[in-house]
Order: sequence, then structure tokens, then C-alpha cells
Amino acid sequence: MKKVDHIGIAVRNLEEMLPYYTETLGCPLMKIEQVDSQKVRVAFIDAGNIKLELLEPIDETSPIAKFIEKRGEGIHHVAFGVDNIEQRMEELRSAGVQLLSDAPKPGAGGAMVAFMHPKSSGGVLYELCEKQ
Ligand code: ZN
Repeated sequence: MKKVDHIGIAVRNLEEMLPYYTETLGCPLMKIEQVDSQKVRVAFIDAGNIKLELLEPIDETSPIAKFIEKRGEGIHHVAFGVDNIEQRMEELRSAGVQLLSDAPKPGAGGAMVAFMHPKSSGGVLYELCEKQ
């Protein structure tokens, strides 16, 4: 893994949570975009050496809606930046790590992403993230 690229945080409502980050904490908002493949609206916050990815579900079928329903708002995943996501997925699969998809999917910021099953990672949802 190159570095931790960002931390994903599940929120019910972006507009309600953003002032906490941008005004109270004083972290700049980088951008907001919708990621249809994950059914989320995403706001990237510049927190210095790391980005925070605030994830708001766009409807109740979104994985983030289900997460919030079960566990409430809060930390959803930690994302590792990688260089060659397909190769990394293959290496992890060979090492017995369960992945949530067979192939990478388009994520926020034009990245390709894949998730490792929390059962393989001691309860933590890890994302692999390759910037294009
Ligand atoms: Zn992420």
C-alpha cells in the first residue's frame, strides 16, 4: 500500500455536516460529486495530510443508507492508495483475503476502487483506491 488515501465517513446529510468540517474545524471543502455506482453524494475535505470523504446516501438502497441504519453515522472505511489495483486485488485474493467485488469499480474523484470484506480485516472495511 502506498499510503492511506482517505477515510470514508457516513453522514445522513452533507449540508448539515459540512459546516462542522469547513467552519468549526476550518478544513477546506475540495469538491462535491455524485458517485452513481455507490449511490452516494461525496464531499472531499482537505484535512492536511489526509482527505476525509463524507458519504451521503442518495436513496435508501445505497450501501451507505444500510450502514447508517445498522450502525449510525460515523467512520465507514479506510482507503489505501495503490498503483495497480487489479494486480493488488489478485495478490490479496491469493493470500485468502475476501473482496467485495471481482473487479474494480469507478469511485469518487475518477479513481478505480475495490473493497476488502471486513471479515477478512478484523471488522474494518478497507478500500483499495487507484487514481487514474
Ligand atoms: Zn472511499
